[in-house]
Parts: sequence; structure tokens; C-alpha cells
Amino acid sequence: MKLLPVPAFSDNYLWLWQSGTDAVVVDPGDAEPVLKALSQQKATLRAILVTHHHADHVGGVQDLQAATGARVLAPAAEGLSFPHESLSGGDTLELLGIKVQVIDVPGHTAGHIAYWIPASPLGPVLFCGDTLFSGGCGRIFEGTPAQMLQSMDTLAALPADTLVCCAHEYTLSNLAFAKAVEPDNAALLQYDTACQAMRQAGRPTLPSSIGLERLVNPFLRSREHSVVEAVQRHDPAAHDDVSVFAALRSWKNNFK
Ligand code: ZN
Ligand code: FE
Repeated sequence: MKLLPVPAFSDNYLWLWQSGTDAVVVDPGDAEPVLKALSQQKATLRAILVTHHHADHVGGVQDLQAATGARVLAPAAEGLSFPHESLSGGDTLELLGIKVQVIDVPGHTAGHIAYWIPASPLGPVLFCGDTLFSGGCGRIFEGTPAQMLQSMDTLAALPADTLVCCAHEYTLSNLAFAKAVEPDNAALLQYDTACQAMRQAGRPTLPSSIGLERLVNPFLRSREHSVVEAVQRHDPAAHDDVSVFAALRSWKNNFK
């Protein structure tokens, strides 16, 4: 089994999960780079997984489906116009002989889902779309801060060795913000140095892992004293879990 981040647009990754000559793609915003990767890998596309409705995640679904005949699996509550099998939290399916669980992670969009593979030959794997990024989280466009915090808690509770396949290469800018929040977090500083080197070498910083994100990602650490204190210095009105998380997210929105 292989996990291949196929780059698209300026900073998207369309994840190709390959087992032998069969493949699954997650969030194909564009068909062309996926078709190219499939032919390079000599793989046949069996399924297309969608996490949420944004164009950079669904733009290539119909062309890919037409070209390959793959099944399309997508969230039930995202108002998608293309034909698909509808999924929501708690659903389980089997793809390429491996069990996949669907998790509801509302916040970035109202019906956003994630796909969790509890046991693959590579260990547990998570495809989380625009909910969790390395060092950050998605913007709250449709949900509430309380929902996004709940989604962070759900993902943080997955096993530490879960490989986290995020949909964008946002790591360096996320870590710049994370360092402003927790300038003394040694694990964060070390990870930032490693990611700078990976990007300079032209390599993706992903997949990350849940265990690593728990150490470096302020959005998974919003109840840590160091994070709460930094947020309250920035926004003295933040006082409980949800308002601290909301203030942290809006601080990031305006961070340059
Ligand atoms: Zn999105
Ligand atoms: Fe996106």
C-alpha cells in the first residue's frame, strides 16, 4: 500500500491511496493530475472519496468518474449536485479490501466528513480534507467554533500513529502562527526546522501524524495553559474552551 500526495493548483494535495494496481483518490479538485498519476503508477481507479463541497475538492470528480467508472462516495449533507453514494458519520465501508470509517467533522463546512482507516499495512490513516492541517485547522466558514472544537477533539482522540493526510500544503505558514502562540514549545520549533528543510528540498511536509499534531498544533492544544495564556493576552474576553478556541481561530485569520 502507498499514499501519494498528488499536487494540484497552488497548494492542494489530491491523495492517491494505492494497493497493488488498484487506487482510491480523495478530493480530486482536478482530474488531469490524477489521471496522469494513475497512468504513471499503472493503477486503476476504484473509488473517489469526497470530504466536502468546495470546488478545489470536487472539481475533477465528474471527469474522473467518466474516465474511470470509479464509484463516487461523498458526504450526505453537503448539497452535492453530482451522482454519489451518500455517507455520514458512523458509516463504514470496505475499499481495496480495507475497512474505512466515516467521521463527521463539521466546522469548515456544515457537512464535512473525514475518512479514517483504523488498520492499513501502513498503520491507521486519516483523510481529513480541510478540517485539520499540519500545525493548523480549516477556516470556520459554515459551522460554529463549538463544532470545530468538537471536530478537533474527535480527531485528536485517534491513535497517535494515525497518518494525517491533509488536503493543503499550509504547514509552514501554520507553524509561523503556532510559534507566535507558543514560542517556547520545543517540539514545535524542532518540527518547524524539519519542515523548512523538507520544503526547501521540494518535498511535501505530509502526511503528519496525530501524535505529532498533539504536540505542535495550537488548534489541538487550545486547552493547554501556554495556549490559553497567549490567546487571553491577545483577546482578554476569551474565557472558556469555546471562546478561547474561537479567539485562537480569529487571531490566525488576521495573522500575517
Ligand atoms: Zn475547503
Ligand atoms: Fe480546500
